[in-house]
Amino acid sequence: ATPTALMVGTGRGAQLGILIKGPEVLETTRRVDTIVLDKTGTVTTGKMTLLAVHTAEGSDENDVLRLAGAIEHSSEHPIAQAVAAGAVERLGGATLPTPESFANVPGLGVQGVVDGHALLVGREKLLAEWEIRLPESLARAKAEAESAGRTAITVAWDGEARAVLEVADAVKETSAEAIERLRALGLTPILLTGDNRAVAEAVAAEVGIDAEQVYAEVMPEDKVDVVKRLQAEGRSVAMVGDGVNDAAALAQADLGLAMGTGTDAAIEAGDLTLVRGDLRAAADAIRLARRTLSTIR
Ligand code: ADP
Ligand code: MG
Repeated sequence: ATPTALMVGTGRGAQLGILIKGPEVLETTRRVDTIVLDKTGTVTTGKMTLLAVHTAEGSDENDVLRLAGAIEHSSEHPIAQAVAAGAVERLGGATLPTPESFANVPGLGVQGVVDGHALLVGREKLLAEWEIRLPESLARAKAEAESAGRTAITVAWDGEARAVLEVADAVKETSAEAIERLRALGLTPILLTGDNRAVAEAVAAEVGIDAEQVYAEVMPEDKVDVVKRLQAEGRSVAMVGDGVNDAAALAQADLGLAMGTGTDAAIEAGDLTLVRGDLRAAADAIRLARRTLSTIR
């Protein structure tokens, strides 16, 4: 390889906001035919907002906000930050209590103790693991929120479901165009998320990904298996992600692209970093790398 061509390639890459780990990465870009996109923080902004609170009969909204806000304050998950910020705002700037204990349950939510109450905040599946079922009114609120493309977070304490929180984040303005460009480069886009199917399909429709190409409700540790399965079908797979939960899949992919706005774990696992977190740079990167490669040859 002529070092000059490589330098031109990577120099231009830096201008476009793309950092390439090494020259061997370029070769892979010519083979990739499939691109797996993480949803939250990659296709969407990941900046979520708390839109609504539905309480079960007999539960007080302020209690829900105080306890759920307190436990989520300890988590870095984008949903958690939305719940914590939304709670403080709705409580008129009140200070939230410090949890007596706290644990992340990856892909499901959080659990811990606040004000002496054993608290669960997350997917319905998290509550189900403790044999807590949603009353009819909350089940309905959850279904309605999800069919509107929002994420429904369930809240329970002391063995009882207390509320459903509606959270949503926006699709990045650049995502639809990015996906169109990726298709034009001959790649099949696939959406991969731990979020529920209704939300995932709403996002997919908004950015132009077919419903059959949506893998939803995938647990963090299973994201890597989706990549492996696609590879077993004979595909060459690029993966774009931002979270700790994407790191293994990024490492497994033939080409791992990390959002520069994401976690260190993702950036370390990737072959390439999209500095500005703009998905269009994924298409730029693949086009540029392919072109650099033909200059070298
Ligand atoms: P993604 O793959 O979209 O980045 P995650 O695997 O991080 O999503 O999370 C999957 C789902 O688990 C979320 O959509 C949410 O329903 C639930 N969840 C995860 N962490 C939390 C949390 N801290 N609070 C509430 N819900 C959570
Ligand atoms: Mg993510």
